[in-house]
Amino acid sequence: MLSDADILRLLPKAELHCHLVATMRLTTLRELAHRYGVRLRTDDLEELLDYRGLPDFLDVFQVAQEVLRDPADIARVAYEGVVDAVRAGNLRYREYFVNPDNFAALGVDYPSLVDALVDGLGRAERELGVGYRIIAAINRSLGPEAAVAMVQTVIAHPHPAVVGIGQDYLTPELDEDPLRFAAAYALAERHGLRRSAHVGETMAASPQNVRDAIETLHVDRVDHGYRVVDDAEVLAFARSSGVAFTCTPHSTYELSHWELEPGHRIARMIREGLLVTIATDDAVLFKTDVGREYTVALTAMGVGLADAVRLARAGFEAAWCDDEEKRRRLADFDGLVAALAGARDLP
Ligand SMILES: [Zn+2]
Repeated sequence: MLSDADILRLLPKAELHCHLVATMRLTTLRELAHRYGVRLRTDDLEELLDYRGLPDFLDVFQVAQEVLRDPADIARVAYEGVVDAVRAGNLRYREYFVNPDNFAALGVDYPSLVDALVDGLGRAERELGVGYRIIAAINRSLGPEAAVAMVQTVIAHPHPAVVGIGQDYLTPELDEDPLRFAAAYALAERHGLRRSAHVGETMAASPQNVRDAIETLHVDRVDHGYRVVDDAEVLAFARSSGVAFTCTPHSTYELSHWELEPGHRIARMIREGLLVTIATDDAVLFKTDVGREYTVALTAMGVGLADAVRLARAGFEAAWCDDEEKRRRLADFDGLVAALAGARDLP
């Protein structure tokens, strides 16, 4: 008979908040770092992820980015990340934040980057049935003009796999004011690109940032958004907007030291009836995977099995794939959940 943990692990999952670089296998990271002469703080992979603070984490993230300078390596990393996530938590669909500016700085131009990703992720889709889309991420440390230029690049090279824009890194002031990128979001909207923004994540952020992203940037999804529960008015506004939130439990523990317990903001967002989906953010680098976010994090936050199934389904509902694929993936989800429920009741 299947336990709750088995069912949580086997639930089909759509992950909508995942930075491609952080899906890299650690053994691949070490191999590529040696090949390209990029310095790792330590060769001991466990010690490497034992962060003494944010600088240690950013250091590893930067190394993981810097070793991706050959399209063949990018395709390999993309493919391996899917294989691992299927094994860890039955991943069925994923959307990836990818930062074109970072890759361009390493000599991989935007069309080559997209081709490499489609190469690796397309192979994974053919072999494992895992769907994907790509989201071009604004590097917030580079400022508003660079963001507009990045969106112009995406528009100049349309590709069916690239469906929208999002964000990564932090602003130089470490705040999250989303309005500084208003021009880039307006441009993306005019050209039919979907939009998400990283807001309301840290204690330096404000609930108003969440409202600004929805009201002014017209985002289709909010990434993180936890501070929304700190302000009743913003919470009511967010709920009535119907915008989905991509929440990443383990990352809040790793970066903000928020205990995963029923008072956690994500648990409160779920109880308050927001449309929440669950993801890893920086899977490998946060020592997590799409399975653990359900089996460990949701359980620790007091989220029951029925709610976990609802959250998993929301991942497919809030996806940016086309309607035909969404219908197909939701039907597959419902069929697999029915099969799991049946298997659970067997003696
Ligand atoms: Zn993120």
